[in-house]
Formats: sequence, structure tokens, C-alpha cells
Amino acid sequence: MRYAESVIDLVGGTPLVRLNRLTEGLAPLVLAKVEYFNPGGSVKDRIAVKMVDAAEQSGELRPGGTIVEPTSGNTGVGLALVAQQRGYRCVFVCPDKVSEDKRNVLRAYGAEVVVCPTAVAPEDPKSYYSVSDRLTREIPGAWKPNQYANPMNAASHYATTGPEIWTDTEGRITHFVTGVGTGGTISGTGRYLKEVSDGRVQIIGADPEGSVYSGGTGRPYLVEGVGEDFWPDAYDRTVADRIVPVSDAESFETTRRLAREEGLLVGGSCGMAVAAALQVARDLTADDVLVVLLPDGGRGYLSKIFSDRWMASYGFLSRDGNTTVGDVLR
Ligand code: PMP
Repeated sequence: MRYAESVIDLVGGTPLVRLNRLTEGLAPLVLAKVEYFNPGGSVKDRIAVKMVDAAEQSGELRPGGTIVEPTSGNTGVGLALVAQQRGYRCVFVCPDKVSEDKRNVLRAYGAEVVVCPTAVAPEDPKSYYSVSDRLTREIPGAWKPNQYANPMNAASHYATTGPEIWTDTEGRITHFVTGVGTGGTISGTGRYLKEVSDGRVQIIGADPEGSVYSGGTGRPYLVEGVGEDFWPDAYDRTVADRIVPVSDAESFETTRRLAREEGLLVGGSCGMAVAAALQVARDLTADDVLVVLLPDGGRGYLSKIFSDRWMASYGFLSRDGNTTVGDVLR
């Protein structure tokens, strides 16, 4: 019989699939690593398992303890899965820009969700960072994984995401493109790929326009899960060879095209990463193999990116129902 001992054992081992339509006219092989195949539906399942394992080993998390984390949803789902299997309570703190759908997913797994305003500084007592700190102090037996600073965040990608990509491409990958949020994915995966290839693989970060990684100040943008208004410890500044800024409009247009043309119903940060990947791919040759990581699925964004009304309300759709970004790009 072939089965997993528990849902946690299904984390990782996600597939690569070739992008065919969006890459028309481009020379290199462009492969997407589709992280929605993880049981919690995102790349963040990987870090949840490793952060909890390490906290149990160090004694920071004890039986009956509570996990408190500021998360835009995906890390929460991963942590909720692990917590549920191992008997911990979960309290998640997220900014109000996170869709109601995503919050309800967390609640469905049995977690508690506290919602905070997006448009305040990180040091404001109402910010989701401040609120999660306070809850960690106040709840007995609370442990905050803190994905922004936890070394197991990048370490989990160094141990799993990087080796999977290297093995599945038989060492032929030349470029790796991924969005940057906490920086864990790019730092861990990127460092592994640099090391194993003697520095040959180019590491490219995709970042929402306005975020600090691409030289912004943290000005608000709508794409979820990526970009920052501060420099997290989880981000290793020595890994990326290049950071490509991508506008909300271009991120969302590409996200919609991934669903319609490639059959990949994925989230907005996936469209952002693919938009950056396509930009990079324009300068590559047929000998190059580019891997772009798609962090999560699109079901949590049906009332936003995939809603014509929502897109039009932000000016991302013109009156004829087409996305407006094409005009911007031309
Ligand atoms: N996309 C989404 C939807 C995410 O939730 C995250 C995690 N914040 C990322 C991308 C970025 O990954 P990382 O935190 O590893 O930089």
C-alpha cells in the first residue's frame, strides 16, 4: 500500500511544469514550480513543518502550547496543519488587506484569527506585528515562530525547495526567479542553488513596485504575501543577483493569464513572479533553463484578482473588459 502517515508527510516534492503560452516567442525553457500542490495549498507548508520541529527540539514549544504568528494566511495554514496534528492551539494575526476567503480558510482549520489595519507603521501598537508581540507576551505557553527572523524559514528551502529544483532539472537550471516576502524562499533556495552550481545559477527576486527590496519605501501595493516595508532578518542580501520590480497591474494581468492560458489558477504573487520571469527570459537563449516558483493557488483571490468588478475599481480593467496593463507595457 502507498500512503502518507499524516498530511504533514505530503509537504514538499512539488512538480515543475513548462509554461507554453505566456512564453511564446521566448527562447529559454521556462518551468513553473507549483507550490499549491502542498497539502495546505502553498509554499509556506515547508517552513511551518521545520519551524515547529525546531521549536519542539529546543523546548520553546511544549505540549499544550499556543502558536501565535503574524501571517498573511499561507504560513498560518501550514502552521495550523502542523499544530492540529500535534495538539497545539493557533492564533493568527493578519492585516485587513488579506482577503476574507483566506481568513476563513484559517478558521476552517480550527485557528483563531485577529485582523489589524494595513495602513499603519510596523511600530504602531495596532500593527499586526505589534499585536502579535503583545499576544505572545499575554498568552501562557505562547510561542511565536516569527517567520521574518526564524532561521528555519530559509533553512527549510535550503533543505527541500533547492534540492528538488536541482534534481528535477538534472542540474540544468540556469536562472531561478521567485517573489520576495519574508525573503525565506529566495535566501534558502537561492543559496542552495548557488552553492551546488558553483555560483552559475542566477538568482532573481521579484518585488512589488514600492517595496524596499526594489528600492522603494514600503508604499502600499495590492499584491499579497510579497514585498516589505522593512528588511527582515530572514532575507539574505548576498543571494539575489537582481531584483525586478513589478506593478500591481502587471502582476494581476499575468495572474489572470496563467489561469486562462496555462490552466494554472494561482495567486497574485505568482503572476508577479512570472511577469518578472518573462522579463528576464527575453534576454536568455535556448540553452537556458529558468525556474519560477509559484507560491500558492488562486482560490483565495476569486473575489479580488479574478473579479472583473474588483479589477475595474482599481483601474486594472478598461471599459471593454480587457486588462489595461497591455497599454501600459506598449
Ligand atoms: N507569495 C505568497 C502568496 C506568500 O504568502 C509569500 C510568503 N509571505 C510569498 C509569496 C513570499 O515568500 P517568502 O516569504 O519566502 O519570501
